[in-house]
Amino acid sequence: ETARGAVLEARDVAVHFGGVKAVDGLTIRLTEGRIFGIMGPNGSGKSTLLGAITRLTPLTRGTLVFDGAEFHDAPPSQVARMRIARTFQTVRLLPHLTVRQNIQLGADARQDAGSALPWARRPRRTDTSEAVDTAIRRTGLDDVADLRPQELSYGTQRRVEIARALAMDPRLLLLDEPTAGMNQKERAEISRLLRELRAEGLTQLLVEHDVQMMVDTCDHVFAMNFGVLIAEGPPAEVVRDPRVQEAYLGK
Ligand code: ADP
Ligand code: MG
Repeated sequence: ETARGAVLEARDVAVHFGGVKAVDGLTIRLTEGRIFGIMGPNGSGKSTLLGAITRLTPLTRGTLVFDGAEFHDAPPSQVARMRIARTFQTVRLLPHLTVRQNIQLGADARQDAGSALPWARRPRRTDTSEAVDTAIRRTGLDDVADLRPQELSYGTQRRVEIARALAMDPRLLLLDEPTAGMNQKERAEISRLLRELRAEGLTQLLVEHDVQMMVDTCDHVFAMNFGVLIAEGPPAEVVRDPRVQEAYLGK
């Protein structure tokens, strides 16, 4: 356990929106090649935490460390360069582009971030088609690669989002409720995909509402409520924790 290096550490991270303490002093540590989960009722700060890690949401205080280097002052473009990829809670695909073109944007995001100097940035002509093809194959989207998002079921659109993040060849993948709106079979497929990616060494942080999905998929779970950590540990233990039960059921 201690032999595994920390990929990401968030120390005493807070994000306040005026008087709303969405995240209020959270410390988590993600070690290499495991699937971590974040559970918690609506409004507990899960999506805000992912926004803070990807630097889209400013921190009120706290420290973010990736591969040993602090990055809480870095711009979002540097986060892409560090190969931290995310999916969003609601589908954000470009409707006029095909599935393949949407996934290509993920590969481009990493390339565009190739220089810290904006004026030195120009599209690099590196061939990314292999990364795009691999992401399409992994997520089972071969048959729909030339369709547009609105021609797909909601569950398939969500898979395109995951494929777009994978096309970045991430070191850390953040997933915000990837199975929301999916049926049981689609959820099981996503769970299997995430476990396959883990077997290849990919570190993942999964925000998930579905307790069964959490137990089936995650190695270690953080439970949040009102922006703070109320429990962490193996998922089967965390879901039984009285504080977690109380947060969910209001007991
Ligand atoms: P979760 O993902 O756990 O459902 P969120 O992180 O979306 O929770 O939200 C946590 C709290 O922060 C909620 O009270 C929400 O209304 C508030 N919040 C989130 N984003 C903003 C924002 N941009 N401006 C103001 N309040 C926000
Ligand atoms: Mg959310």
